[in-house]
Formats: sequence, structure tokens, C-alpha cells
Amino acid sequence: MQIPPPFEYERATSIDHAIALLDRLGPEARLVAGGHSLLPMMKLRLARPEHLIDINDLDMAYVRVEGGEIRIGAMTRHRELLESAVAAEHYAIFGEAERVIADPIVRNRGTVGGSLCQADPSEDLSAVMSALGATVVLRSKNGERTVAAREFHLGPYETAVQPGEIVTEIRVPIRNRTGSAYQKVERRAGDWAIAASGVFVSLDAGTISDCGIGLTAVGVEHFCAPAAEDALRGQAPTEANIVAAAQLAADASNPSSDQRGPADYKRHLANELTARALRRAIARAQGGS
Ligand SMILES: Cc1cc2nc3c(=O)[nH]c(=O)nc-3n(C[C@H](O)[C@H](O)[C@H](O)COP(=O)(O)OP(=O)(O)OC[C@H]3O[C@@H](n4cnc5c(N)ncnc54)[C@H](O)[C@@H]3O)c2cc1C
Repeated sequence: MQIPPPFEYERATSIDHAIALLDRLGPEARLVAGGHSLLPMMKLRLARPEHLIDINDLDMAYVRVEGGEIRIGAMTRHRELLESAVAAEHYAIFGEAERVIADPIVRNRGTVGGSLCQADPSEDLSAVMSALGATVVLRSKNGERTVAAREFHLGPYETAVQPGEIVTEIRVPIRNRTGSAYQKVERRAGDWAIAASGVFVSLDAGTISDCGIGLTAVGVEHFCAPAAEDALRGQAPTEANIVAAAQLAADASNPSSDQRGPADYKRHLANELTARALRRAIARAQGGS
């Protein structure tokens, strides 16, 4: 069935208005951003909100630097992040991940906030934000709070967003002498990942001073691989250390066999893609391409 059940429609004019509507309409109301996840779910009747609160008019589409962070508004479209010079200046991972998310039609409408809130286990930006140690900003009638991206995703399609809350912004710390990269294998152009790995590496005097490793579609908790990160911090950026960390990332994965491939193939990809992303990020941190 491709027709959604009936629903009432409200168009929010400000963040406060959206919050007031969420409060008044209660748990059967859902925010709609780009609609590229929610509307298909409604058409399949997997979601049956009684009210849709459209947040497309809200002033939440921007990528800017403030307070030593990149601040990305929740309504920023995938295309805007892909084309953002600010994002590209600090982290190549944004462009590399966005270029392989869906197709131009989806990227023109789908939003950064909607992607994170959908929390699909194969979602690319969740891995990117976990790798980068981003923070998610939420607002409700009780004020503002922040949640680490690594604590934002509680499980498949489950997030820390509470009833009455709206995600307004994602904040990513800016780091010096840092390189980043995203590596994804998909069945065909524009498809969801069979597996993907995104990393950042910061170097200080020839040593890895900090790093982040995010994975998607392979069943790692919170889209990240902390044991692999710990193994790299304080170490030299050598091939042996890269290979060992990539193995730890694969060990942290728990993929399922499905139409995208068998579990052992996905685990192999988690290993290989993490190694490739680390090599590329280290080269960038060292001032290479
Ligand atoms: C054909 C196709 C291919 C795709 N391929 C990929 C892919 O390869 N990789 C990938 O990562 N993604 C992919 N996607 C997913 C796409 O990126 C997401 O559907 C989209 O970005 C979700 O954002 P949206 O703005 O459309 O969210 P919506 O569909 O509007 O909302 C999704 C959910 O988030 C909630 N929500 C939205 N905004 C907020 C907010 N600010 N605060 C609180 N809750 C909010 C909504 O209530 C809803 O529950 C694909 C989608 C399609 C249709």
C-alpha cells in the first residue's frame, strides 16, 4: 500500500512554535524535515503519526564556524553539507560521505538532522558524527541540552530524542594537524552501504595524538570502535598500527547476513575500509592529498 494513513498537517514558523506544537499535539505528532525517511515509512504504514509538524521554514540550515566548532543546523540538506567550503576546509570526511549518500534527489531534500534522528543502522552521517566526536543539540520547552553523538543513537531507529524535543544543531570540534576520510562499499551507486568506515586522525610530533573511527551497517555499538581508537592513540602512524587497529574495528562489528551480503564479507569490509580510511586520513594530516 503506497498511500499514508490520514494525518493533520501543521507548518511551524519558528523553533519555539515547533516545540509548542510538539507539546500541544503530544506523542502522536512527528516532525517532518526532508521527509525522505518518514514519508516512505508512512506510505508503508510502518509509521502512523496523527499530526505532521513541518519544520522546513525554520532557520536551521547553515554550516558555520563558531567557538572552535563547526556548527551544522539540523535542517541543512545533504547537498548543502556536500558543497560546504567550511566543512571541506576542516574535514574531507564530510564531502566523501555525502557524495555517496543516495542520489541528488534525496540529497536535495534530506537533512542532516533527519538522518541522525532516523537512526537507520546503515546511515552514513551517524558514523561520520560518531567518528568526529560531534555533539547533538536538542531543545524543548524545558530549554536546551546536548548529547554526544556517541550517546545519541540508542539502537536501530532509536535515539536520545525525548518527547517534545527537536534537534536544532550538530557541533563538531575543529582540530589542528588532522586528516579525515570516508570509505564505503555499496552494491550500486546511490545505494545504502554494505559497509562503510569514516575516521579522523590528529598528529602531533609524529604521533597519533587523537583519532576517531566510525562504522556503519556492520552492527557496531553507537557507530564507533573505541578499542581500535585506543590502540592508535599515542602510537606512530605506521602500517602495522593501522592494520592492527583495523582488525580491532572489525572485531567490534557484529554484522548480519542479508540481501547486501554475508556477515563475514561485511566484517572483512569493516577491516579493509577502516585501514584504507586511516591511511588516507594520516596522509592528509601529514599534509599530503
Ligand atoms: C532512495 C533513498 C536512498 C537513500 N540512501 C541513503 C544512503 O546511502 N545513506 C544514508 O545515510 N541515507 C540514505 N538515505 C536516507 C536519507 O539520507 C534520509 O532519508 C534522509 O536524509 C532523512 O532526512 P530527512 O530530512 O528526509 O528526514 P525525515 O524523513 O523528514 O525524518 C526522519 C525522522 O527524523 C525525525 N526528525 C527529522 N528532523 C528532526 C529534528 N530536527 N529533530 C527531531 N527529529 C527530527 C522525523 O520526525 C522522523 O522521525 C536514503 C533515502 C532514500 C529515500
